[in-house]
Amino acid sequence: MRVVIVGGGAAGVCAAGFLRRPDLYSAASQIASSDIEVVLLEKGDAILRKLRATGNGRCNFTNVHVSAAHYTGNSADKTASTLSRFAFREAVDFFSLLGIPHTTLESGMTYPATLRADTVADRLMEWINDAGVSVRTGCSVETLTRQEKCFVLTLASGEKIMADVVLLATGGSYGIGKKEWSNGYTLAKNLGHRLTRLHPGIVPLAVQETARTAALSGIKLKAQITAQTTCITDDVLFSTYGLSGTGILRVSNRVLDALNDGHVTSSRREKSNNDRNTAELLLNLLPDRREEEWLAYLHGLAARFPTWPAKALFSGILPTKVVDQLLLECGMNEKSEASEENWTRVLHRASAWPFTIIGAHKNDHGQVTCGGVDTAQWNSRTMESLCCPGLYLIGEVLDIQGECGGYNLHWAWASARAAAEALEKSAR
Ligand SMILES: Cc1cc2nc3c(=O)[nH]c(=O)nc-3n(C[C@H](O)[C@H](O)[C@H](O)COP(=O)(O)OP(=O)(O)OC[C@H]3O[C@@H](n4cnc5c(N)ncnc54)[C@H](O)[C@@H]3O)c2cc1C
Repeated sequence: MRVVIVGGGAAGVCAAGFLRRPDLYSAASQIASSDIEVVLLEKGDAILRKLRATGNGRCNFTNVHVSAAHYTGNSADKTASTLSRFAFREAVDFFSLLGIPHTTLESGMTYPATLRADTVADRLMEWINDAGVSVRTGCSVETLTRQEKCFVLTLASGEKIMADVVLLATGGSYGIGKKEWSNGYTLAKNLGHRLTRLHPGIVPLAVQETARTAALSGIKLKAQITAQTTCITDDVLFSTYGLSGTGILRVSNRVLDALNDGHVTSSRREKSNNDRNTAELLLNLLPDRREEEWLAYLHGLAARFPTWPAKALFSGILPTKVVDQLLLECGMNEKSEASEENWTRVLHRASAWPFTIIGAHKNDHGQVTCGGVDTAQWNSRTMESLCCPGLYLIGEVLDIQGECGGYNLHWAWASARAAAEALEKSAR
């Protein structure tokens, strides 16, 4: 059997290795490594280029909390069976077999113990070299057609390559540079697949209240973020254009999905001046205590320091510039007196500070692509297309996106492993 894999990213490389070394995940495997010929085609000048840039060069390759709940897409629940067969434990065991021990942060985000993405990329490359995968870089697949019993792939050079089975692992439309942008969507579409709407994901968000965020630019704090149906507590960073930080990246996919689909579930559904959808995001800047507890705290402080104005009472619990902004928005100033009425106004504002999201900060850049090949036309157990037998789709090319935190790479490994397992079974 000749398998051609299109795309030398995380999913494609991992599938290539699993296909040639099935013993690494299945002791029961009957297939000798030479039974399946594997050709990996990558249009860039090297494989795994994006992987080296992941996690700020540290590669957050999985997460303790991996489950379907951390994925979105037109039917993200279809990830559940794949993830249950290749969960966090299987992922770290697999990397350990390749000589990559891991380290896990309190948040569940998991990295190679060296904290270097190069470690993961280099080991994977050695693994597939050892396994006898034929790797060809500088090979952009321009067309993919199905003939009676095989596939024909035409490269940009005009060369034609035949395959019994094709794995489409072409990734997404956004990433580290335009060179890596995928034309995999067109390849899939021409074979009868529907595409769902594409937009960048895991991105900073642009807001309407830029005067406010610009005044606070560079300030990072921990806040409870409520957006759409999600409520999490994590870092928020204010910027001239809007909001960033890990917490914002974590909720960005769902917020942008809602904006793009036009079904915004926030309390304020309104159109901005240029007539586009907006979504409301609320920040609770004081998530560690309930309002009554903060009131009791402020009463105690004011009793000890009766001459302090309201600003002084809040300046110990929030950055001064944030306090100034809250006072301004409550119609107060730095001299406003420390009365219970004033505290309560500031507390209310700080615990549900509304922001109007107008879109992604940049429309041509994101860590992940939301949308992709419609998973209704895909078998979530085998990864095989339902409308083009012999074509398998893995990784980010599908309409399956993970949150920020290692979920996207985990999906790349898990889907690669599921496809290899299904192919090994059919070869057997
Ligand atoms: C800056 C950055 C940081 C990230 N950090 C993390 C992180 O820490 N943790 C995490 O889980 N996720 C992270 N991600 C997301 C993660 O990298 C991707 O979800 C993952 O790489 C997807 O794997 P993939 O193999 O499906 O696609 P890719 O890794 O994008 O690989 C696809 C490959 O296919 C090639 N290709 C495309 N079209 C063709 C064609 N027609 N012919 C031949 N080759 C083609 C491309 O050149 C590319 O090399 C990050 C992404 C970015 C951009």
